[in-house]
Amino acid sequence: MDIEALKGVGPKKASLYEKLGASTVEALLRLYPRAYEDWGAYIPIAETTLNETATVRARVLHKPTTTRIRGGMALYKTTVTDGVDGMELTFFNNRYIPNLLREGHTYVFRGRVTGSFFKREMLSPEFVAEGKEKAILPVYPATQGLTSRTICKDMEQALSLLPTLCDPLPDALREKYGLIGLQEALRGIHFPPSMEELAKAKARLVFEEFLVLQLGLMQIKSGRKQSNLHPVPGGFPEGFAELLPFRLTGAQRQAITEAMEDMAGPSPMNRLVQGDVGSGKTAVAAALCWAVAKAGYQAALMAPTEILAVQHFESLSGLLAPAGIRCALFTGSMPAARRREQQERLASGEIDLAIGTHALLSEKVAFRDLGLVITDEQHRFGVNQRSALAEKGASAHLLVMSATPIPRTLALMVYGDLDISVLNELPPGRQEIDTYLIDSPKRQRAFRYIQKHLDEGRQGYLICPLVEDEPDLPLMSLEKYQGIVAQAFPGVKTAVIHGKLKNAEKEQIMAGFASGETKLLLATTVVEVGVDVPNAAIMLIENAERYGLSQLHQLRGRIGRGKHKSTCILLTDAQNDSTLERLRLFRDTRDGFKIADADLKLRGPGDFFGARQHGLPQLKIADMASDMDALRAAQMCAQRLFPHLQEPCYGNLSKEIRRLFKDGVQVTL
Ligand code: ADP
Ligand code: MG
Repeated sequence: MDIEALKGVGPKKASLYEKLGASTVEALLRLYPRAYEDWGAYIPIAETTLNETATVRARVLHKPTTTRIRGGMALYKTTVTDGVDGMELTFFNNRYIPNLLREGHTYVFRGRVTGSFFKREMLSPEFVAEGKEKAILPVYPATQGLTSRTICKDMEQALSLLPTLCDPLPDALREKYGLIGLQEALRGIHFPPSMEELAKAKARLVFEEFLVLQLGLMQIKSGRKQSNLHPVPGGFPEGFAELLPFRLTGAQRQAITEAMEDMAGPSPMNRLVQGDVGSGKTAVAAALCWAVAKAGYQAALMAPTEILAVQHFESLSGLLAPAGIRCALFTGSMPAARRREQQERLASGEIDLAIGTHALLSEKVAFRDLGLVITDEQHRFGVNQRSALAEKGASAHLLVMSATPIPRTLALMVYGDLDISVLNELPPGRQEIDTYLIDSPKRQRAFRYIQKHLDEGRQGYLICPLVEDEPDLPLMSLEKYQGIVAQAFPGVKTAVIHGKLKNAEKEQIMAGFASGETKLLLATTVVEVGVDVPNAAIMLIENAERYGLSQLHQLRGRIGRGKHKSTCILLTDAQNDSTLERLRLFRDTRDGFKIADADLKLRGPGDFFGARQHGLPQLKIADMASDMDALRAAQMCAQRLFPHLQEPCYGNLSKEIRRLFKDGVQVTL
């Protein structure tokens, strides 16, 4: 039913509703409140806090008085009492006030408390007559021109307009899980008569949302069962191992074997390799590229940054070219002529392995027979970028690599249809990283410590949150730091790198650091992902409080990659207990999974995955971190229900799944 079916909603308001994602009455009902005002929870006037919003229940002592002020405006004043204390109310220019507030009657008032400790006041409070108050009022995500109040009114109408909605959850299923019906749940979520009813409504809607999501993911997975057009001989590729200058770890061998079995199997591979920073994911990727190329297909490896793409190209071509595998690098900054020439060779099959950034996604990049697509640090990619690469090869094998360890339940949800290999072992000979937490008075001492490492031939990273000074932010900038560092490290070769530089410049700076010529690299988090310079053994992070734990973990992963003992120094002047506790936890833990767990608890999944990059449809009410139990229950329900989804009683449920995934699926590649 079109939203304009509501009285008082014309084209103008309809377009505002559309902004909120509600162009139908049904969709409006699914616009859930973001909070509630509990009008039943009023308190004595004496307990209100100055300058905070309060709800009080009080009797009007006298008919409001009217005072004319400048500009034809009027002030209305009255005094109310809760039986113990009094309070003065002032309203501006609302001529109905004298009729609305009747002497001797009691109302519930809600507004910001001003005045003084002895004489409290409220300016233009909202109010409802006693007994008429809805105990709990919804607060909606308002938009320009559409207040929460208006939405509230329209919602009431919407609920009465649609008395018979189709419930996606059939009765039998609801009974089994003790869930209330859709109609009741929608009433309860918008206008809950009590907190208990609200909880019931929420439980039902959360379950439904998780269930629909999970079933949708399962559908995608089963729909993707194509036949394997790029079979590769299974088993561990011994020929590849001989190319390596080191022995693979057990975990690497196992991940490679698992992927090889997938690629030899009846349908294309669809696998996630999760490995902590430094666990050696690149070697796993290289093994698979080798195997695919040897089988006569092409492979593509996509990295999120140019720095990383170049690094991968150098190490992989160094390793694989001697084995006759032809590699090429594709980045946005490469000269057009060279790009064209490479594109031709790629299309004709003269290149076996294409390594690059999202430049690989350009329409002009075509493969002769793409058999394997790998994305590195996949959490860094926009959702659509991932799928675009996969589309370049019909039924290519897919491998995504991620250094963001995520808890199992979440992995199931986010990567619903991926098989997972875990690299839970670091290559041998890795040094422990000592981590210290200091404040700025100790900065000079930290510098002396760094100098000692430089004297021993090591290199280091100095990380700042800002590129340039920002007057309102008390944060260290690279701009300012350059001066500080020049003074503290006279004669030491330093370089500065950040996201605002041109790619070619970044590349040159990284090359200078990788070769050992540059000793100290001043950087923002551009070095966070994947950069590998084993001689770098020290890192100082300014304003450490600014970073999430997973991000700090990625940063710290840039050191401790070689045979040298490494040190990470977190510098912060934060006083806040919870911030310090977070940083201490990080100081004392190196296990990426533990850090990820803590991060998830502290910040919730939204931040955890970065701006919605997990690619799932956006959830309206369920929260993957706090509704974990419901998530588990819905997952189990989905497993059982899935084989029966075609049965007529699940018709409404199927419709809901189609609706949720209407923007296409972006979940896994
Ligand atoms: P990440 O998993 O963080 O991407 P990399 O693939 O960059 O890790 O590997 C980190 C470093 O460890 C690289 O210098 C790589 O050459 C080295 N490395 C990888 N596997 C092994 C191994 N089995 N033994 C020794 N060194 C290894
Ligand atoms: Mg890596």
